[in-house]
Amino acid sequence: MRLPLLRAPGSRLLGILLPPVCQVCGEPGEHDRELCGPCCLALPWHTDGCARCAAPLPEDASDICFRCEEMPPLLDHCWASLRYEDPVSALLLRYKFHQDLAAGRLLAQLMALSPPPWPLPPLVAVPLHGSRLRRRGYDQAGELARLIGAPRWHGLRRIRATLPQSERGADARRHNLDGAFAVRGPVPDAVVLVDDVMTTGSTLHACAEALRAAGCRDVSAWVCARVP
Ligand SMILES: [Zn+2]
Ligand SMILES: [Zn+2]
Repeated sequence: MRLPLLRAPGSRLLGILLPPVCQVCGEPGEHDRELCGPCCLALPWHTDGCARCAAPLPEDASDICFRCEEMPPLLDHCWASLRYEDPVSALLLRYKFHQDLAAGRLLAQLMALSPPPWPLPPLVAVPLHGSRLRRRGYDQAGELARLIGAPRWHGLRRIRATLPQSERGADARRHNLDGAFAVRGPVPDAVVLVDDVMTTGSTLHACAEALRAAGCRDVSAWVCARVP
């Protein structure tokens, strides 16, 4: 039986009594993480994505995919620590839809193990609308950004509830987000958006649009997992 609450941050004593167990295979964890060495090595680490959209690149490509070369996206840089494949996809689903905060903590640790290869200005989590936050009880991107531990900026808001992006096609995804985000207060010169999963990037692009309209000059993104 898993005891996620007993493994909450700060429960040091319980951490000694209950050493970490790998969330993937159940063997003892390593380096104080709920992940064993072999499972960590076997994860779908994503180190060869396009520098602007993190899509997997063909072997002979430069660091930018042909789509981004033809039509540069609203993100200056984009980094995905992992690919959205098993067991990362299973961890993300547990975190996002089954209240498994221990899975979220492990995913944030994995992001910190494979950070972007550029300097980190303040992190800005892709915000949830208040109504969904109340239903879910926690903000999955915000928690990842908090657990990574870098400085954050909180001026980006979701001012309109939107339908879940996962249920829509690419075109519908774009229009679903029209006017969904707004910026409050003076915006930093550069920010790094943080989100759990990137599929087409339409949510990140809508955030980038709002930030740029408010005067932010350099908007990049760091996601836990990229859907290939
Ligand atoms: Zn394992
Ligand atoms: Zn690209």
